[in-house]
Amino acid sequence: MLTLIHEMQSILSKECVHDNPALVDTYAVDASFYKPKAKLVVDAHSVNEVSQILDVCTRHDIGVTFRGSGTAVSGQTCGEGVIVRLHGSAWDAIRVLDEGKQFWAGCGVIGSDVNVALAPFKQKMGADPASIASATMGGIIADNSAGMCCMVEQNSYHAIKGIRMVLADGTYLDTTDEMSCAAFRKSHAKTLEKLGAMRTKILAEPEVVARIKRKYSIKNTIGYMVNSFVDHEDPMDILLHLMVGSEGTLGFIHEVLMDTIPTPPVRATGLMFFPSLKDATDAVIELKGSCNAEAAEVMDCISLRALQDVKDAPSILKELPDGACAVLIETKAWDTDGLEKNTSEILKALGHYPALIPHAFTSEDAECERLWNVRRGLFSAIASYREPDEYVLTEDINIPVPELADGCDAFQELFDRYGYNAGIMGHAFHGNLHFSIPVKIADEEAVKRLDNFMIDLVDLITKRFDGSLKAEHGTGRAMAPFVRNEWGDFLFEIMCDIKKLFDPKGILNPGVLINEDKQAYLEGLKNPVATHPSVDMCVECGFCELACPSRKIALSPRQRITLARSIAKLRMEGDTQKADEWETIFHKYGADLCATDGLCQLRCPLGADVATMVRDYRGRNASGKVIRLADYVSHHFGGVLKTATMALNGMSLAQRIIGDKALGKMATSARSLSGNKLPQWNPAMPKGGSKAPVQTRPDANKDCVVYFPSCAVRSMGPSKGDDSEPLMDVTVKLLKRAGYQVIFPQNMSKLCCGKAMETKGLAEQADAMSAELNVALLEASQNGKFMVLCDTSPCLARMKKTLDTRMTLMDPIEFAMKNVVNRLHVTKLPRTVALHPTCTTRSMGLADMFTELASKCAEKVIVPKGINCCGFAGDKGFHNPELNAAALSGLREQIVECDEGYSVSRTCEIGLTLHGGKNYRNILYLVEEATR
Ligand SMILES: Cc1cc2nc3c(=O)[nH]c(=O)nc-3n(C[C@H](O)[C@H](O)[C@H](O)COP(=O)(O)OP(=O)(O)OC[C@H]3O[C@@H](n4cnc5c(N)ncnc54)[C@H](O)[C@@H]3O)c2cc1C
Ligand code: SF4
Ligand code: SF4
Repeated sequence: MLTLIHEMQSILSKECVHDNPALVDTYAVDASFYKPKAKLVVDAHSVNEVSQILDVCTRHDIGVTFRGSGTAVSGQTCGEGVIVRLHGSAWDAIRVLDEGKQFWAGCGVIGSDVNVALAPFKQKMGADPASIASATMGGIIADNSAGMCCMVEQNSYHAIKGIRMVLADGTYLDTTDEMSCAAFRKSHAKTLEKLGAMRTKILAEPEVVARIKRKYSIKNTIGYMVNSFVDHEDPMDILLHLMVGSEGTLGFIHEVLMDTIPTPPVRATGLMFFPSLKDATDAVIELKGSCNAEAAEVMDCISLRALQDVKDAPSILKELPDGACAVLIETKAWDTDGLEKNTSEILKALGHYPALIPHAFTSEDAECERLWNVRRGLFSAIASYREPDEYVLTEDINIPVPELADGCDAFQELFDRYGYNAGIMGHAFHGNLHFSIPVKIADEEAVKRLDNFMIDLVDLITKRFDGSLKAEHGTGRAMAPFVRNEWGDFLFEIMCDIKKLFDPKGILNPGVLINEDKQAYLEGLKNPVATHPSVDMCVECGFCELACPSRKIALSPRQRITLARSIAKLRMEGDTQKADEWETIFHKYGADLCATDGLCQLRCPLGADVATMVRDYRGRNASGKVIRLADYVSHHFGGVLKTATMALNGMSLAQRIIGDKALGKMATSARSLSGNKLPQWNPAMPKGGSKAPVQTRPDANKDCVVYFPSCAVRSMGPSKGDDSEPLMDVTVKLLKRAGYQVIFPQNMSKLCCGKAMETKGLAEQADAMSAELNVALLEASQNGKFMVLCDTSPCLARMKKTLDTRMTLMDPIEFAMKNVVNRLHVTKLPRTVALHPTCTTRSMGLADMFTELASKCAEKVIVPKGINCCGFAGDKGFHNPELNAAALSGLREQIVECDEGYSVSRTCEIGLTLHGGKNYRNILYLVEEATR
C-alpha cells in the first residue's frame, strides 16, 4: 500500500492522494445502499494523469473506479481499490455545434449545464435523469441514464456520435479524429478483430438477434449494450456504443459528442387522479398509442401518501381514498394551437376511465415545473418515511407496456409477501417502474429476507415478463450477479469476453456489472445509525454537494453526514479509539470549515439540515473558556463592539501609513504567533464604523420605519479606497427621501441579533441577545405598528426566526423594492454592477427580487455563475480565510467588466471585495444613488 501511495504521489501532487481511512471512506460514498470498499482516493486533473493512474493500478493489480458526482444508486461508484475523482477545469468543456443539434461535453460537466447551453437553440439532450442537476456527463454516459421523458431512441446509446477515451492500457482514442482512429486500428488490430468475431457469432444466431432487438426496444441497462453488435458493423462503432452503459468497467470517458433533440417551446402538464392503479395503467396504455403525450409518470397510493408533505404538493393528496393512484402527464407543442389540440385529445382519451377529480392541464410554466418538482421529490419523500437505521433499496425495472397492470399487481403481491412497504412509481410510457423499499439490514434474518425477495423479484421480471432488471440505474453491484439470469449463458459469455478484451487484468471497477459471485449483491450493505435528527433522513444522494462553498477544501454536506454516521456507529460498537480518531477529522474538515449557511438544505429534497448539525456539534464541543468569553460578550456587547471598531480604525490607519504589504506581513506573523486565534487581516478590511445618526421620536403625521443597523454595519465602515459615506447615513438619507421618519431602537449600541453566537453553536448566548433585541424592537416599532428594516440579510433571517411575529421585518432588498422605489423616481445609472445574493437572500427566496431591484438602478447587472455562498460566514472568513477563497474562486474572471459589486452583508462584502477585485457595498448605496 505504501508503495502505491508513493507512486501516486509521484504523479499527482501530495494533497491529491488521500489515504486517511476516515476520509477515504467518506469521499467514496455514493447514493447506493453499499458501503465503500475503497482504499485510496486520488484527484486527477488531466487525461495524462488518468493514464498514469491506470498504469500504477495495473502494476499494483488494484481496482480503479472513476467517479463523477457519486449519485449512482446501484453501487457502481463506491468502488474498491482506488477511487479517481475529477478535479480542476480539464473536465468541464462544453461546445455547442450546428445550431445546437450536437454538442461536445467533458465528463465533468453537470447534465443540466448542457441543457442550459442548448436552450437558446431550443434543443436539449435526450437523457434526462431526475438527478440531472447533480450528475456528470461521465456518469450519465457510463450509466446510460435516462428519465421521465427520454424515449429509448433518444437515450445516450442512440445519441452518442463520438468519444474521447482512455483504455485500461493507457491508450487515448478519439473516435472523431481520423489520425487517432488510424493509429488505434493499427495498434489494436487484434482487439477490433475480436470485436468483429463476436459480432459474427451473434449474427449467426437469429433468435439471439431477435431477442436483443426485443429487449432493447424497452429500457435496459443490465450488462453491456450488446445491441452494439447488431446495430453496428464497424468494430470502432461497436466499441463507441459499448462504452455507453459500461459503468467505468471498460475505460475512462473523457469527452463525448452527442446529438440533441428539439424542445418544443410550449407545454402543458396535468396531475390526473384515478381510483386504482389498474385504471391508471389502462389509461396510460391507451394514451401511448393514440395521443401526443410526452411523459406519463405513474404514482401508486403509497407514493402519493409519501408526497403529502412535500413542498408544493397539491392539497388533495391528503384526502385520497385507499388504492388511489395518479399519473403526471405532459404534452409539448410548437405553438398554443398545437398544445390545445394535444390536451383536448388526451382529456378525451382519459374520459373513458374513472377519475377522482376532473382531469385538467395547466400550461403555465411555473405551475408545470411545480408539479414536476413534486414528482422529482418522490424518491426522497419515500426515503424520508423510513427509520434512521433503515436504508432504501431502489429497484428500477422495465416490463413491456401492455403488461403494466399485471406487473403492478404481481409486484405488489411480492412486496406484501415479504412485508415490504414499497411505493411503486415510474415512467409508464416506457413500462419502467421504480420501487423504493425501506429495508432494515441490521440482522442476518433481514439480509436473508432481502436475499429471498431479490431472487423472487429477479425470477418474476426475467421469467414471467422477460423484462429488464435495471432500466436506467445501471447494473452496478446490485444486479451484477443476475446478469446471466436476464441474458442467458450465450450473451453472458459474450459480455465476459468484452470485459476480458478491454480489461484483461480486471482492474476497472471490479465487482461491478459482471460478477460471478452470486451473493456479491449482499456484501457490504450500508447499515446506517441515527446521528442527529436534522440529518437522519439523509439518503446520501449527493444532490446537495454542488451548493457547498467548502466542498473543494473540506467535506461536502453529504460527506459531513456520512462521517458523522460512521463515528456514531463506531461509538455504538464500542470502538472509542477509532471513533475519536475519526472525530478529529470531522472536527477539522466537517465542523471547522462549514460555513453553516444552510445552502445544502435548499438543494436537499428531504430538507436535511447540516448547518444545524454542525452548529450543535460546535456548541457541544465549545470549551469552558469559549463559553465564558461568549457570556462576557453577550453581557457587554456595547463595549466589545466599541473595542472592535477602535481596532479596525487602528488597522486602517496602519494600512494607510505602512501600506498593504507590510501590514499584511505583520498581521500574518501575529496570527501565526497566536496559533491562528487572531483573525487574518486582508487589504479589503474596512475601517471602523461611524456613530449612529441622531435619535428621533415618531411623528404622528409621517410614515415611520424602525431602522436596525446590524452590529457589523455599526462597527465596520467602507474598505480602503472607498470614500462612500457610512451605510447608516446613506440609509437614513434614502428613507427620508422616500418620506419616512426613521426611528432607531433604544440602546442600539448594545444590541445584536445573536447570529455570530448561533453560528458557533452558542445557542443560549445567541437567544439571550435576540431576546434583548426583541424587547427593543417591539418598543421602537410600537408592537409591530411600524415596519423594521435591518440592513444585513443574514441577521434579518435570524430575526425572522426568533423575534416577535407581530413585527414586519425586512431586509434591504425587500424593503427597497416594496417601500422605496415605488415612492421615488429611479434613474438607471450607466454602470455594470455585480450582485452577490447571500445564502440568506437565497433561502428567503429574494434572489430574483435582488436582480430586479438592481436592474432598476443600473444598466447592466451580472450575477456570477456557480458562486453560491461566499464562505465568509460571519467572522469565519477572518479565521478560516481559505474557506472564503475556495468559495469565491472563479468570481474575479466573471466580473471583470463590472464597475462595482453589491450585496447585503458587510462581512460577505469584505470577502467579495478581496477575491472579486471590485469594491462591494450594500445595495442600499446603489438605490440611494439611483433615486437622487
Ligand atoms: C434521487 C436520485 C434520482 C435518480 N434518478 C435517476 C433517473 O431518473 N434516471 C437515471 O438513469 N438515473 C437516476 N439516478 C442515478 C444516477 O443519478 C445516474 O446514474 C447519474 O447519471 C450518475 O451520474 P454521476 O455523475 O453521479 O455518476 P457517478 O455515480 O459518479 O458514476 C456512475 C458510474 O459511472 C462511472 N463513471 C463516472 N464517470 C466516468 C468517466 N468519466 N468515465 C468512465 N466511467 C465513469 C462510475 O465509475 C460509475 O460506475 C438517480 C439517483 C438519485 C440519487
Ligand atoms: S451549511 Fe454550507 S458549508 Fe456547511 S455543509 Fe451545508 S452548504 Fe456546506
Ligand atoms: S443531505 Fe439531502 S441532498 Fe444531501 S445527500 Fe443527504 S439527502 Fe441528499
